[in-house]
Amino acid sequence: MLHGLMMTRPLLISGILRFAERAHGNREIVSRRAEDLAIHRYTYRELGVRARKLAKALLALGIKPGDRVATIAWNGYRHLELYYAVSGIGAVLHTINPRLHPTQIAWIMNHAEDKALFVDTTFAKLLAGVAPHVASLAHKVVLCGREHMPAETPDATCYEELVAAQADDAFEWPEFDENTASCLCYTSGTTGNPRGVLYSHRSTVLHAYASSLPDVMGIRAVDAILPVVPMFHVNAWGLPYSALINGAKIVFPGPALDGKSVYELMESERVTFSAGVPTVWLGLLAHVEQNKLRFTTLKRCVIGGSAAPVALQQRFEREYGVEILHAWGMTEMSPLGTLNQPTSEHERESEEAKYTRKAKQGRGVYGVELRIVDEAGKELPWDGTSFGALHVRGPWIAGSYFRSESGAFTADGWFDTGDVATIDAQGFMKITDRTKDVIKSGGEWIGSLDLEDVIMKHPSVAMAAAIAVPHEKWGERPLLVVVKKPGQELSRDEAIGYFEGKVAKWWIPSDVVFVDALPLGATGKVLKTELRQKFASHAWPEGV
Ligand code: AMP
Repeated sequence: MLHGLMMTRPLLISGILRFAERAHGNREIVSRRAEDLAIHRYTYRELGVRARKLAKALLALGIKPGDRVATIAWNGYRHLELYYAVSGIGAVLHTINPRLHPTQIAWIMNHAEDKALFVDTTFAKLLAGVAPHVASLAHKVVLCGREHMPAETPDATCYEELVAAQADDAFEWPEFDENTASCLCYTSGTTGNPRGVLYSHRSTVLHAYASSLPDVMGIRAVDAILPVVPMFHVNAWGLPYSALINGAKIVFPGPALDGKSVYELMESERVTFSAGVPTVWLGLLAHVEQNKLRFTTLKRCVIGGSAAPVALQQRFEREYGVEILHAWGMTEMSPLGTLNQPTSEHERESEEAKYTRKAKQGRGVYGVELRIVDEAGKELPWDGTSFGALHVRGPWIAGSYFRSESGAFTADGWFDTGDVATIDAQGFMKITDRTKDVIKSGGEWIGSLDLEDVIMKHPSVAMAAAIAVPHEKWGERPLLVVVKKPGQELSRDEAIGYFEGKVAKWWIPSDVVFVDALPLGATGKVLKTELRQKFASHAWPEGV
């Protein structure tokens, strides 16, 4: 083997910031602040100065390479400063989801052995409650100025004072191995304890490159990006890095994630691109529709985290001219795996074919290899109908969990995602279910996501979940749990009738129940485990 003779400059997160300051120093970062909901704005250049001061402050606190520094914070500029400063000095940024139960947060922090915790004012009470239970915690910092320091945390440090204590930003980012850990994020852990995914500088930079590609998120210097996806979960899908690589303006919504606030910020900051889970877009669209508003600058949105209902995609695209990019990924995948963009083969596709395609989660991004396997582990064909366990591998996919064993990593080097999928001849992957959520009727699988997609097209339906409920004859049958739109009527029979001709007869839900709301987990996904428990002894109607 002959070695190449190119430089081996390490792929470091600090390199992204250094580039962004130089190449796009004037680009704006606009944030709605957690402490007073006021709008704050500064530039990439000022981010660089503050990140270097923060890096010096962290070192002065005694934070060492490899130490875990935790955050519980909304999307905002101070959180971004932590993203760059913590990883930049070789420490590990541990983002924590505030929607988890405090005992679970304490469990995670103890597991990670966090040295420091930075929180928004919103989470001062949470900080006060959790901190005494985390033995490793040496520093507590609240992300605000002195005037907003909360009464609940009298012994915490004020972030602005911590940064201001550094007289200047004279600091060179250290260079180290690109495989050094950069960030830690725990999976939502709906079954068992959460598991830590430990990203590296290399994986983060490569993911940021790939997610920016034209046929992936297509991020450009003319874009203004509003990440609705939280920086506390999978690094806001890498946008805090990819925005800087491409020189895009960033607009952080802070804690105000209701439809009205997001819409107003999108309009006032001329946002062109946004990303989030389906529930967020339902809220945004409801606000826009009720008030007969238009999007004047928004061009495209990435929807992922849960299946993007076709009805939602159509409303955005047909009524408002906003293109929807359906994406799939996982915490373990940094998170991006697939994204749905057309190829030249789709130039003349019909409207119907277009939305059949767009219901799929898309093509694997370069850098992510996909395969589907049957129960014996045999690889299945890419024919659009064979479905099996979805496996992935690539440079930004976890190879193991932090301090935890798992059977999800196969002997031949793949990660078993826990999703069940088909892949068609053109490489478009479609998730049919989570392995643990599949409905097995008479020994055959029914795709619950397909059923949900059908009923979501009904004008009276706000949200829906199809779940498996035990059945004497068939083992399991699908039960449809529906939330109606306010003031709308829908009967059981009408809902069931709506499936006629749209799915195979034996897939049609055997019964329907109406509820006021679906239980949502910490990352905005419907908690099907909870629904299954609730309806485990559902009495099927006569004749079912
Ligand atoms: P998390 O690690 O919390 O981001 O959850 C990852 C899981 O969310 C995946 O394994 C899928 O089950 C689900 N998921 C993510 N994106 C999609 C999507 N576009 N359609 C269906 N399920 C999705």
